[in-house]
Amino acid sequence: MMKRLEDFLEKVKGRSKTYIGYPAGTDFDYKELYPLLDYSLNNVGDPYTQSNDMTSKEFETEVVSFFADYFNAPKNNYWGYVTNGGSEGNLYALYLARELYPNGMVYYSESTHYSIQKNIHLLNMDSIVIRSQASGEMDYDDLAVTLQLNRHRSVIILANIGTTMTEAKDHVPTIVDILKKYAIKSSYIHSDAALSGSYLPALGYHDFDFAHGADSVAISGHKFFSSPITNGVVMVKKSYKERIGRSINYIGSLDTTITGSRTGFNALALWYFIQKSGKEGIAKRAETCLENANYLRNALNEIGVKAWSNENALTVVFPRATDEICKKWQLASDAEISHAICMPGVTRQILEEFVNDMKNVQS
Ligand SMILES: *Cc1c(COP(=O)(O)O)cnc(C)c1O
Repeated sequence: MMKRLEDFLEKVKGRSKTYIGYPAGTDFDYKELYPLLDYSLNNVGDPYTQSNDMTSKEFETEVVSFFADYFNAPKNNYWGYVTNGGSEGNLYALYLARELYPNGMVYYSESTHYSIQKNIHLLNMDSIVIRSQASGEMDYDDLAVTLQLNRHRSVIILANIGTTMTEAKDHVPTIVDILKKYAIKSSYIHSDAALSGSYLPALGYHDFDFAHGADSVAISGHKFFSSPITNGVVMVKKSYKERIGRSINYIGSLDTTITGSRTGFNALALWYFIQKSGKEGIAKRAETCLENANYLRNALNEIGVKAWSNENALTVVFPRATDEICKKWQLASDAEISHAICMPGVTRQILEEFVNDMKNVQS
């Protein structure tokens, strides 16, 4: 290996040992797929139209089928594709919502991921920010009041299934009830489930999926599934999607995706993870992470740090840590809070070292 790359590898290796502030899974072994990197597999265009043989679309459509079942999508009315990440999935869903309801108003809570604002701006949509509760979950009273003031417009709701800072979950059935109560005729609900949506169904939590009111769901694959290359999946109802996407002779496919070229490696990575883990493997993996999060929360409380976490969350929230700790442990901080995320790959030993550092600062 070239010296420059060797040095870089060493640096990355070192820093990966104190990487607990961002939701990147690091444990899963994808080496079996590496020989496939010798080929340029490009899943350009729609996963369901085969353009040429240098794609991995046969795997991509199986990945989509898995998530259709996982998110309780309507049996013969689902469609999806492997994206380059959660943000692209959100952009696609908002694009679809805008095509369905050009007059729609987007509602999202103040705890929403930063990319949503950009997406809304790109799509030139109108939007209103809804207050959050202290936990990070949407304030439904504020949603109800705000909806009433705009009853003449179609409603597009961006629900967070795991907010960025506190991993709070907006409750989609409650949102559906509010829409019913105010007799909103046309509405669309998108679940931004980037992190939590990857494991919640395996634990039996479904209050954000198609059967519970969502019209689309997006997740990231490099988070809980530890994909080495950033990716994601977006799932929508097929009948909606058929409103967009032109046939392009040049690529022999439908131009239904946000980006044109998409690496075929990502579909293989997700497919491989699903094959190796299955729903049971995902549940086990999540349980280990939740145990670690419990451990971290309790250990921090024991040394006098007021740590807390939302139910079924891998994220532990505490008062903003010192700059030194934030830098070493690569912690994400908001105005008053910091968080650590017990992702797959973050071991008990790493957490013990972190707690030790926090303790030394305290005393
Ligand atoms: C990570 C995340 C995103 C963005 O996903 P990327 O894969 O980084 O593009 C969007 N929303 C939430 C809630 C996230 O946690």
